[in-house]
Amino acid sequence: MKRLRNTFMDLAIRMIGFGLLIGIVFPFFMILLGVPKTIAFSGLFLACCVAAGVLVGFVNILISRVTVKNKLTVLTTKMRDVKNSIIMVSENGRVDECSAEHCSIPVDTDDEFGESAQAFNELIESFENSLRMLDEIKTYTAAFSSQLDLHALAEYALDRVMGGTGADAGAVLIENEGEIVVLHSFGIQDAKETATDPHVLRAFSKGDTIAIKYPAEIIVESTLTRFHPNEVIIEPVKFKSVPLAVILLAKASPFCAENLKQLAIFTQSLAIALHNALEHEQLQKLAALDPLTGILNRRFGMIRLREEYSRSVRRSVPLAVLMFDIDHFKQVNDTYGHVVGDRVLKNITNSIRQGIREGDILLRYGGEEFMVILPGASKNDAFTIAEHVRHIVRESKTTFGENQISVTISVGLDSMPETTISDELELITNADEALYRSKNSGRDKVTIH
Ligand code: GH3
Ligand code: MG
Ligand code: MG
Repeated sequence: MKRLRNTFMDLAIRMIGFGLLIGIVFPFFMILLGVPKTIAFSGLFLACCVAAGVLVGFVNILISRVTVKNKLTVLTTKMRDVKNSIIMVSENGRVDECSAEHCSIPVDTDDEFGESAQAFNELIESFENSLRMLDEIKTYTAAFSSQLDLHALAEYALDRVMGGTGADAGAVLIENEGEIVVLHSFGIQDAKETATDPHVLRAFSKGDTIAIKYPAEIIVESTLTRFHPNEVIIEPVKFKSVPLAVILLAKASPFCAENLKQLAIFTQSLAIALHNALEHEQLQKLAALDPLTGILNRRFGMIRLREEYSRSVRRSVPLAVLMFDIDHFKQVNDTYGHVVGDRVLKNITNSIRQGIREGDILLRYGGEEFMVILPGASKNDAFTIAEHVRHIVRESKTTFGENQISVTISVGLDSMPETTISDELELITNADEALYRSKNSGRDKVTIH
């Protein structure tokens, strides 16, 4: 845009013009003061007055130019600094270039200049805060999107949100297969309790943000936190309006409006990341499970065996493997059909599950072959468990119309370090050999390698 006017030129015209006017009017004042007209209106006196008026106007403009110009130059320089900082931020994401400290103007006068400097500084401060917030959002959004593990995501998210809002305690809860579970917590007395808290349940069912104030005089009966909370916020993390998780935050002092604004922005980013992590977990589960029996498939079972083998070697604890094969299963299929055969397979899976311990790992090794990994079990322990399972299977029945189908299983087992092995696959080979011997010596029995 073309600049048509110059403020200092305007000022100069007005000041010099005013000086000129004073110079012209001045002789009339002199007459009022009794100076003779011959002197007051003489050409020389008039010329002196006009010259003095013009000179004062000229000096005035110089003084104001020096005084005002300095201040305006500082403002202009700082504005340019800010502009360059904005360019820097957009080019290389560096936020610290325009800190309030670096770009602010000294407020050294108590007038309009001081006020405009103050307004400029406030502008810079809010600009700096916005940049920091943007930077923070960028950082945690990037961290969120690379995190597909639910627990690690919850831990990181809670750490960030507590830092951002100044909360002293918090928890992240999710709804998993109809059950509310605590993914991660910090500073909460009994985190599990929060999963049944009516406010948390309401945040899940209605998707409302709930803020509970605890004035100092109120004694909280079942103390939520290790300190007296002043305020507790329960914020749902919604993806497409559906609450996927709930963040619970407790603070010894009240949450301010800025905290709540940050929390709202934060939960939006977290919702997308949580959705991805939940989908990932679901896919992982689907990929790891056998669709007919719902237990681990061979591929993922082998991964678990490798992990258990490494752990056993590392900690010098025993590890046993049981191999099961259903006896004459072909006959079941031939007699009742494949669909019934499938039901028998599912039934046997449940029977094996009943006979093993919590930490034991059951997998479908092949068509009607199962494997159980028994961490910490010696050959004797493994034999006892295998016998127990064999009996449960033997006793269980699958009903098909009038028929009660019952099958038996043959089992082979091996355990390390009683057997010296060089890798986990040797355990399988040995257990398989033992199973073969069970088959060859009449079936429905357990053989130790
Ligand atoms: P053995 O006592 O020697 O083990 O006799 P078997 O008849 O059980 O022989 P084998 O172990 O070779 O059995 C394999 C049979 O298992 C053949 C196949 O029809 C059946 N089978 C494998 N997978 C499935 C399945 O997913 N569903 C059904 N219904 N049958 C299966
Ligand atoms: Mg078989
Ligand atoms: Mg068989």
